[in-house]
Amino acid sequence: MAIPACNTGTDPVVVAVALGGNLGDVPRTFQQAIARLRRTDNVKVLRCSGNYQTRAIGSQAGADYFNAAIELETTLSPRALLTTLQEIESELGRVRTGHWSPRTLDLDLLSYGSEVIDESDSPHPLSVPHPACWYRRFVLDPWTEIAPEWRHPLLN
Ligand code: ADP
Ligand code: MG
Repeated sequence: MAIPACNTGTDPVVVAVALGGNLGDVPRTFQQAIARLRRTDNVKVLRCSGNYQTRAIGSQAGADYFNAAIELETTLSPRALLTTLQEIESELGRVRTGHWSPRTLDLDLLSYGSEVIDESDSPHPLSVPHPACWYRRFVLDPWTEIAPEWRHPLLN
């Protein structure tokens, strides 16, 4: 029997999502994003971290950031979930003006179970675990609050 290379939309998978933002009332935007995920079919919100405030990186980066992490259970494929996250970013006012520029909401897919996906050359890139997930303190602090047991499938 063939073993599917990635989730096909049947088995629930536990995933982590990073939230970030530094424009507007960011804690409120996070609550709206989480509420929207709770209303999303095939997604169950399991755990939410507190909010962490950090300085923005880069000379044009703007105000301090808030960061948080949430854990979801989903039967959506990684790509379907990324599309959903990007829709929520747009609904909540994100305008893509440039790398590391100020934003109302950034939703990054940190992990999808222990799957490793490298579609970085695609027109719509997707890499899981998120390439920067293991060294950014503002990602690791909230993530370890809610999922201290998760282990990076390549870096351990
Ligand atoms: P950043 O999060 O680095 O500030 P963006 O949110 O604008 O930047 O994302 C840039 C691109 O990163 C997106 O177009 C998306 O296709 C790609 N990407 C690749 N892997 C992931 C992932 N795991 N989660 C979120 N976006 C990802
Ligand atoms: Mg992003």
